[in-house]
Amino acid sequence: MKVQQSLQLFQRAQQSLVGGVNSPVRAFKSVGLSPIFIQKGQGSKIYDVDGNEYIDYVGSWGPLILGHCHETVIAAVEQALSSGTSFGAPTEGEIVLAEMVKEAVPSIEMLRLVNSGSEATLGAIRAARGYTGRDKIIKFEGCYHGSIDPLLVQAGSGATTLGKPDSDGVPQAFVDLTLLAEYNNLDSVAELIDNHPQEIAAVILEPVPGNMGMIMPEHGFLNGLRNLCDREGILLIFDEVMTGFRVGYGGVQALLGVQPDLTTFGKVIGGGFPVGGYGGRQDIMLKIAPVGSVYQAGTLSGNPVAVAAGIATLSVLKQENVYADLSEKSGWLVNEMKSLFQKAGIPLQCNQMGAMFGFFFSETPVRNYQDALQTDVERFKVFFKGMLQEGIYLAPSAFESLFMSTAHTEEDLEKTARAMQITLQQLCD
Ligand SMILES: *Cc1c(COP(=O)(O)O)cnc(C)c1O
Repeated sequence: MKVQQSLQLFQRAQQSLVGGVNSPVRAFKSVGLSPIFIQKGQGSKIYDVDGNEYIDYVGSWGPLILGHCHETVIAAVEQALSSGTSFGAPTEGEIVLAEMVKEAVPSIEMLRLVNSGSEATLGAIRAARGYTGRDKIIKFEGCYHGSIDPLLVQAGSGATTLGKPDSDGVPQAFVDLTLLAEYNNLDSVAELIDNHPQEIAAVILEPVPGNMGMIMPEHGFLNGLRNLCDREGILLIFDEVMTGFRVGYGGVQALLGVQPDLTTFGKVIGGGFPVGGYGGRQDIMLKIAPVGSVYQAGTLSGNPVAVAAGIATLSVLKQENVYADLSEKSGWLVNEMKSLFQKAGIPLQCNQMGAMFGFFFSETPVRNYQDALQTDVERFKVFFKGMLQEGIYLAPSAFESLFMSTAHTEEDLEKTARAMQITLQQLCD
């Protein structure tokens, strides 16, 4: 595997961009490598500047569920582009995308479009605070909700990877209103609620966490949260930025049948462009300006080109059997992985839902953030490097999830399984 050109670009990048990258996990620090610079993508593959080809299981960290350069998306974007890139005035596309989200996700009555997942969670918690008149929020250790001050506490993946669960520059006072619970532990939530009666505006979580590695909610956990919130007049916010239109067309909530009050979106709904959204119950959403008194705005929000990419992506996803196929492919790969590792005697835990999957090097099931931190990160590094050498591009951190796209072929999956076999030999040596 040649890396000369990537190394040169990384050197150059570091002269003008902090750490050579515009988002920390891209730096490959946690796997002890330099990042590879990408030249182009096509379907399930990406190609770096040294001419190496990889099967891509990152998909731009989730958005590219149709793979790279899907022709429907590209055509929609080209058409939108030819009419202008931005107006800062309403366009029909925004309505179409909002209608599609409403139709797909049972709890959404109204939506606000923004430019990123981070902006969506920021808007959602502001709306929750505005609606309830309460200030405190509960989040879960290891759940990531974007790089926004109030939620940058024990925030999983990027932050964990850098060994910095918190960030400098976030004043203590900004997170004093953020209470931390343990994922899959209802008692930890009940205790916080008891200790702060009538003070908690919202409980926010990734209903299926993907940012501390992938973790499944245990039976009764999400329903239990729903009940606790109802009892105390607390709003339940599902952050489905990663899982929305990813685990299934209607997200986790449609699959597991639990209705949050508010939901955040990002990633897939932008089809590879910067789009986020938050929405839910109409009475809450109507608190937002220009109708209500909770202010939130964005110059490029609902950008026509980005929205066109989102509409095109959801249109393709709406077709029959897309998620059944995605799930079957992910399931096949996960099972293959399990059996290969079992044969090699290396303990592995896997989770999968729709087009999202993940694994931990661990003897015991991983139920929460503390469990995730106990897994074998050194082994992950060796595995990651081996797979990269074999042309498989995984997320460069032990605390991330992996993504299947409609573009991945049977041949891709078989090649991935072979790469695992070869890499396993290195792990055993
Ligand atoms: C990626 C992600 C975010 C942040 O989205 P950005 O578009 O990166 O700002 C928020 N929440 C979850 C669950 C995510 O996976």
